[in-house]
Amino acid sequence: MVEALALADEAVSTCVDDATWALAEDELVAALDATHRLEQRLAAVKLALVREIDSRGTARAQGASSTAVWLRERLHLTISAARRLVDLAAALDTGNPEVRAALANGDITVDQARVIADTVATVHAAAGAEAADKAVGVLTDWANQFDPTLLRKLGTRILDHVAPDIADAAAQAALEAEARRASRDRHLTLTELSDGRLRLTGILDTETAGLLRTTIDPLTAPGGPDDQRSPAQRRHDALADICRLTLRTGDLPEHGGGPAQIVVTTTFDTLAQQLGAGTLDTGLHLTPETVRRLACDAAILPAVLGSASQTLDLGRQRRLVSGPLRRALVLRDRGCAFPGCDRPPRWCDAHHIRHWADGGTTSLANAVLLCGHHHRHLHHSDWVVRLGGDGHPEFTPPAWLDPDQIPRRNHYHRRT
Ligand SMILES: [Zn+2]
Ligand SMILES: [Zn+2]
Repeated sequence: MVEALALADEAVSTCVDDATWALAEDELVAALDATHRLEQRLAAVKLALVREIDSRGTARAQGASSTAVWLRERLHLTISAARRLVDLAAALDTGNPEVRAALANGDITVDQARVIADTVATVHAAAGAEAADKAVGVLTDWANQFDPTLLRKLGTRILDHVAPDIADAAAQAALEAEARRASRDRHLTLTELSDGRLRLTGILDTETAGLLRTTIDPLTAPGGPDDQRSPAQRRHDALADICRLTLRTGDLPEHGGGPAQIVVTTTFDTLAQQLGAGTLDTGLHLTPETVRRLACDAAILPAVLGSASQTLDLGRQRRLVSGPLRRALVLRDRGCAFPGCDRPPRWCDAHHIRHWADGGTTSLANAVLLCGHHHRHLHHSDWVVRLGGDGHPEFTPPAWLDPDQIPRRNHYHRRT
């Protein structure tokens, strides 16, 4: 063998001395193909030698701790390259004579041989020797067309070709393992910040992720052309909308003996004069503006205290827009009445045009339907709402937005 290799060495010397610039283009390409093929064939020879050295224990006999370490010294390889060489040599020798033959023929590259050997080992473990044999044939065939990276990717679905009866089971097992992992890792953490806000972190399992997306996506659309909220802010507000809707259904399990309900405690002075603050039943404080807005909303129960902190019964039925009055309001506004908003009635609160704490009545003439976002917007901005001559709501923009302050209407819910 050493003599034969010496001849090959001489042949290579001739090539090294040849002037590549003198070659015609087709010769140039043919020479490249031949060099590449020879390189792979020589690699097969080298792997066979490494394998023999490894199995004889030559490295240990010469004082090295392993064949890989010995190869690193001898051939000046990195230790990982040396290990890969030893591993591939063993893999081709023990289970994959066809792969070795393909490499020796120059039909596949060393990297492809490595991918095929790895994949075949996996198939062997999953589906047995017969499927592994088939896999060698299929993969060697594919190696004609695909580079090692793509070959490895295709190899993940090799069972479809060589053992279709267990491929589905294997895919199913992978899916179940994935589902178990998702179920184990699912969590939602609510961290209370010192100012009353919550940090929300967590991972949703696939099903819950689907539920959330389906529910939240339609609610995160911008609420009209003037909507300045970022997508993240719109998702936040959508979550609030979902909670409100759920509270409104009254279908939540009882909590502490009564229906789940947010209770805002406030004084009548706070509502009437917009002074002081309100307190949520969680003990968190709210601005007077927020309290007035929440007091509009049927999903929130305001507990209003008089000056001596006795509960003032302002007549809950009287101040909340519900029953026939809400139905009449829905018939009139048909959704959020804010200009440019297409939110349907079920997402809407009934806003008192003149707040009930200011003496406003709970009547159709004093109510307007607004989605959560626009209800908030109206209470916290300089937009003004009133009913126009035809009894339909119109909204006057703040001067900074429209110096002429021409009232606008919602055209989405118009009767056609
Ligand atoms: Zn309101
Ligand atoms: Zn709206």
